[in-house]
Amino acid sequence: MKTNQADNAAKSLPRDRNRPLTMAIAGNPNAGKTTLFNTLSGARQHVGNWPGVTVEKKEGSFDYHGRTIHIVDLPGTYSLTAYSMEEVIARDYILTETPDVVVNIVDASNLERNLYLTVQLLELGAPVIIALNMVDVAEGRGIRIDHNQLGTLLGVPVIPMVARTGKGRDELMRAVLDPPPPAQLRVNYGRDLENAIQKLCGTMDASPGTPPPAGGARHAAVKLLENDSVYEKKLRDSFGPDIVDRKNRLAARIEQTLADDTETLLVDRRYGYISGLIREVVSRPAMDKRTMTDNIDAVLTHRALGLPFFIFAMWATFQATFTLGAKPMEWLDMFFGWLGGVFAALLGDTLIGSMVVDGVIGGVGGVLSFLPNILILFFAIAMLEDTGYMARAAFIMDKVMHKLHLHGKSFIPLLVGFGCTVPAIMATRTLENRKDRIVTILVAPLMSCGARLPVYVLLAGAFFSPAAAGNVIFSIYLIGILFAIFLARIFRTKLLKGDTTPFVMELPPYRMPTLKSVLLHMWERAWMYIKKAGTTLLSIALLMWALITFPLTFPGQDAMERELSRRAAAVEQRASELGAAPGADIKDARYNELVEAVEEQEREISSAQLRHSLAGRVGRFIEPVLHPIGFDWKTGIALISGFAAKEVIVSTMGIIYSVGSSAEASSELTGALRADPIFTPLTAYVLMLFTLLTIPCMATVAVIHRETGSWKWTAFSLGYHTVLAWVVCFVVYQGGRLIGL
Ligand code: GDP
Ligand code: MG
Repeated sequence: MKTNQADNAAKSLPRDRNRPLTMAIAGNPNAGKTTLFNTLSGARQHVGNWPGVTVEKKEGSFDYHGRTIHIVDLPGTYSLTAYSMEEVIARDYILTETPDVVVNIVDASNLERNLYLTVQLLELGAPVIIALNMVDVAEGRGIRIDHNQLGTLLGVPVIPMVARTGKGRDELMRAVLDPPPPAQLRVNYGRDLENAIQKLCGTMDASPGTPPPAGGARHAAVKLLENDSVYEKKLRDSFGPDIVDRKNRLAARIEQTLADDTETLLVDRRYGYISGLIREVVSRPAMDKRTMTDNIDAVLTHRALGLPFFIFAMWATFQATFTLGAKPMEWLDMFFGWLGGVFAALLGDTLIGSMVVDGVIGGVGGVLSFLPNILILFFAIAMLEDTGYMARAAFIMDKVMHKLHLHGKSFIPLLVGFGCTVPAIMATRTLENRKDRIVTILVAPLMSCGARLPVYVLLAGAFFSPAAAGNVIFSIYLIGILFAIFLARIFRTKLLKGDTTPFVMELPPYRMPTLKSVLLHMWERAWMYIKKAGTTLLSIALLMWALITFPLTFPGQDAMERELSRRAAAVEQRASELGAAPGADIKDARYNELVEAVEEQEREISSAQLRHSLAGRVGRFIEPVLHPIGFDWKTGIALISGFAAKEVIVSTMGIIYSVGSSAEASSELTGALRADPIFTPLTAYVLMLFTLLTIPCMATVAVIHRETGSWKWTAFSLGYHTVLAWVVCFVVYQGGRLIGL
């Protein structure tokens, strides 16, 4: 019978044989979508983003028996509601791009939960083929699934397979070459709901000029009753507000009758359908034995042991990221230093040389130096995710984070933020709810990153006793954490309130991840970082360089340069008096004095240039704003340059205080800061606070924009950090002065 159908299909569509066939892979996270995708498409794949959002999109194509097949890896979802962007993307893709076939990967060892998505795909009317994956795992547990019976009951082909080994791949591809018709599953939602669905369909049919949305009227009616915001808008737009009013009235009546909301009732009914289905097709071992997962979970999600273990796991991740990353990061730093040296020698002391060395290599190299940390972090995250532990982590932390009005999963990115805010914000991708994600992104920069440490060390070292310096620095970190918690609460309850994702605390089975899948997951993320942070950064780095470099001329330049030549001539003269070549290692007090005079004049010139550079002018322009919090224009420039990267604050202060920024000069800088009357222990502390609270560095801003996909939130982040930093510093500075500090 099946073969007949295949023949008929082949005969009726002879021309189509040359057309590429589009195949979408849909399934729960961790069901094996990527594994299947990789075995099918091999190297011919392309990773990008879905339009307008930051959900990863993987596409590939390959030839199978002379037919070109285009595969799209849809985002992993448990459902097709409008709760997360992944779900909306998957649903929209199927409805609007209408792939020839949707291969629904179902984890056979976790059939019940996986079938929830299947049921929705079938309700949508998608041309579904079920790839019943991980039958090896199911069999290992003694679960036997009658896949033929499952296919019959659902009305779609079901192909058992083991994606990891490639078993069942050919059977699957044979089925794909003969795409099934659109599915026609109708779940019976019970008398009351069916009644309401029918009435809503009637309203749509009564509007003859307007076709029902893709997926059909029944599906749209079900979605409406599920309070799906996307469908509400869609239907209101095409059928007018009446249909939504009608739905609300019908839903209210049902809620009165059944004492439960329609949304819950629909979900319950679907699960009821699945339970019935499972009873028909699954036979379990007679004795319901405890699985390995149950045993591990007894420890890892234990009421008392779960949290300590979780904290340990996170601590280990955090430690590995920054201790194992330190050495390679140093090497990369050295490499970029060497590269800078090579180009400096090649291009000389020219404008182009400065642009390449300071702007391009200094700017982009600085960010790429974080790559080892990024790789280690993403390796750890991929491990935690692929094993299934991440789901437990959220499960354990959910209660604690709920008190802070944050999602359980927010905990992970915040912890990462102590190292670097850029990967911290990227780690928010594990959050499904957009609002949770935005709140976490907004407060993540308050977790003081490693780049800010040099600033604290410099200032605390210069203005506090060695015994107090450690506590001073610790207090800054603590203030950051407290602000993060406090503001997250405010943002989540005031700015981004309501609409929390009903968080299904699913506990997927533990699985031993393959090295290949972990490495692949790690690399995919790392590559995005290299590519996008690299390109975005390059342009901003060049801009910053220009602001500090231009204009090259400044008032009084000629006189200063004449003085420089005079001093240089004096050095040469002294050298010839001594009978030595200039630059040779001359041990003569007078000679050294003269050399120092030249260096001093060079510093004078560069600081005059700095004062009149665009950045310098901005520094002097913003001075009135900084005055109430105790800073002058020079600190202003340092803070502006800190936008490029927080460490830069230290090196800019070095240039400003005309001592250069080389390592041996740092004690001189300490002395120069102490000598500047503007600096007291109070201003130093306020400057540390400002560094902590003010707008994050440009790499972070770029990543905030990329991850929120919104200029509005990026602007908000910049705005609130600026206001927060200023207000807190004002209060501390003025308060400190009042009490006589
Ligand atoms: P996705 O995120 O849904 O695309 O799932 P992945 O492709 O990342 O697979 C999740 C994990 O399941 C990986 O560690 C795979 O190696 C593993 N996996 C995939 N298919 C099978 C299978 O058929 N059997 C077993 N035992 N493991 C599998
Ligand atoms: Mg995947």
